[in-house]
Amino acid sequence: MEQLAISGGKPVRDNKIFYGRQCIGEDDIQAMAEVLRGPYITCGPKVEEAEKKLAEYTGAKYAVTCSNGTAALHCACIAAGVGPGDEVITTPMTFAASANCAVYCGATPVFADIDPETYNIDPASIRAHITPRTKAVVAVDFTGQAVKIKEIRAICDEFGLIFIEDAAHAIGTCYDGAHVGSLADMTCFSFHPVKTITCGEGGAITTNNEDLYKKLYLAHVHGITHDESLMEDAPHEGIWYYEQISLGFNYRMTDFQAALLVSQLGKLEKFKKRRQEIVEKYNEAFADVPGIIVQKEIPESDTCRHLYIIRLDLDKLSCTRRQFFDAMSAENVQCQIHYVPVYWFPFYRHKGYEKGLCPVAEEIYKGILSIPLYPMMTDADVADVIHAVKKIAAYYRK
Ligand SMILES: *Cc1c(COP(=O)(O)O)cnc(C)c1O
Repeated sequence: MEQLAISGGKPVRDNKIFYGRQCIGEDDIQAMAEVLRGPYITCGPKVEEAEKKLAEYTGAKYAVTCSNGTAALHCACIAAGVGPGDEVITTPMTFAASANCAVYCGATPVFADIDPETYNIDPASIRAHITPRTKAVVAVDFTGQAVKIKEIRAICDEFGLIFIEDAAHAIGTCYDGAHVGSLADMTCFSFHPVKTITCGEGGAITTNNEDLYKKLYLAHVHGITHDESLMEDAPHEGIWYYEQISLGFNYRMTDFQAALLVSQLGKLEKFKKRRQEIVEKYNEAFADVPGIIVQKEIPESDTCRHLYIIRLDLDKLSCTRRQFFDAMSAENVQCQIHYVPVYWFPFYRHKGYEKGLCPVAEEIYKGILSIPLYPMMTDADVADVIHAVKKIAAYYRK
């Protein structure tokens, strides 16, 4: 038995490896620098190019870039017409923004439970939480795996709900051969540095619906239009004239960020391939490790994995998740937990949400940790992570 670093043994590696890291090359820096030297650093042609490329890549008709993934979700809720008195069904196993976007609109997030094997929102639980006030579903492609899109689409159609896909983890993922981004009513992406491609802070929404597109567009530019066909008071006084026709926000992406995004999009397939290689190595390595449970995939999802989560089977280990996490840190493998169930946070607790709402998500939460996964990891890095997990699992095996 190897001595754990946490109790004085030699760590698996000398330098720390983190759970995620962006991959920025000289070409990305060049692309950005070019825009910074030019006339438009915001409201210029790169934003349009990024939107065109995103639409092309995902197969969606329209794309709107915005300042971050949270803004994307907010715009989607505005376009969906979410307002006071409405309910929006989402998952607790997500970043807070998936629920906050409903609150921004004065609506109430309702948490449906997750599938115990894929950790994605369970369509049966969505159905069980529908009321006459339900307006939309925000389904999160957790870790990058597509949700059960066909089942959720059918439920949304049956009850007249807007299907918003939170694909912050899932750019590059396909469902039944079609890209995530072309399937829900609106799909939201994030380009934060921990995500699969990045432009610093950034986000986007894709849609096939022209009416939703127009609303999304207005929501991210103050509700202001230069399009005469949308104006109430046209014919107008001159070409300087624009109108604010709704209440929107300034959620624009800058042009230098858009240049970085275009450059990163060009590498997405390469990133996906490397992420999938690492996921395969992990799956193989952990398949037979007592105490370690691997996330299941649905066959429809060709996943560009954002996070790799191991789940501890705490009945088979003599440690807590906290002890396992700390032991990994001592081996110089810095894990993270995705996520604390959203409604456990004080903000939601004070609104009356209580523990026990989603028993499956709460049970899964107790045992999960995210281990390093990013394209620049070397095979040696991957081997170190596997070594650390196996070493600690063997040490604490009951
Ligand atoms: C990162 C993330 C967001 C928010 O994106 P930002 O760009 O950080 O605002 C929303 N939903 C999920 C599931 C995320 O992981």
